[in-house]
Amino acid sequence: MRAIQIKEILLEHTTEGLRSFIGMMDFELTTHCWCGGRLAPWAPEFALYHQCAECGCKSVRFRPSTQSLQRFYSSAYWYEYQQVHKCPTVEERFEGDMLDRVPLYINWLRGLAEPPAKVLEVGCGNGRLLFELKQAGYDCTGVEMDSNLAALVTKKTGVLVHHGSFPAENDPVYDIIVVIDVLEHAPDQRDFVQNVKSRLSSSGKGLVHCPVLDTLEASIQFRHMFNPLSHLWIHTSESFHKLWHDAGLTALKVGELFNMPVYAIGKT
Ligand SMILES: [Zn+2]
Repeated sequence: MRAIQIKEILLEHTTEGLRSFIGMMDFELTTHCWCGGRLAPWAPEFALYHQCAECGCKSVRFRPSTQSLQRFYSSAYWYEYQQVHKCPTVEERFEGDMLDRVPLYINWLRGLAEPPAKVLEVGCGNGRLLFELKQAGYDCTGVEMDSNLAALVTKKTGVLVHHGSFPAENDPVYDIIVVIDVLEHAPDQRDFVQNVKSRLSSSGKGLVHCPVLDTLEASIQFRHMFNPLSHLWIHTSESFHKLWHDAGLTALKVGELFNMPVYAIGKT
């Protein structure tokens, strides 16, 4: 399929707010699921996603190129995108997150390891969770794709936030690795899981929260999760467990937040 045809299909099936970004990005046809399974058309409601015949995971039909994704998550794109979608600013999120999600995540994390455990948050965003964990006595590190945000959060919270998708080295390892609203963005799912695994201590645990949708009805109810520019994979319970299990890790549901499961990941 030619690039121009891909963009025509994307433009036809996306909302107004995404169209200007599509014009600036390059896409390639996604041929296989992360599990190696064949991707086939899924449902008429979701023209931009295919379903894996093997594991049931949903994949974007057209994946932004690596370079386009890097640009997308760089400040200019990201802030413009957030503004288009009337998302709260970093400052507003820093305050607002404490009201709904952060106390709940802290409860689950306390169940995994007590302070002064070493915590890494992948894609830490505004850094509020790390800031609170630091106050509670945890030894915290963050990574963030947006270099400006990484620097800003380091300054604001006193927690070292590296720029990138993971810390450059596997040393040190961590007792807890937090992955919130991040897994669905990772182009290479197996590589992402290996990156988590290689940075977990022998008794280390991951805390993962991402969209997991098992039925078409649930997918329609939460269709805003299907953002074809950034949510590259939408797991089912089956595909989520398979992903971690294939890497020699176990996934155990520990709770639910915003109607999506929260999992603890452990080494078997
Ligand atoms: Zn699959």
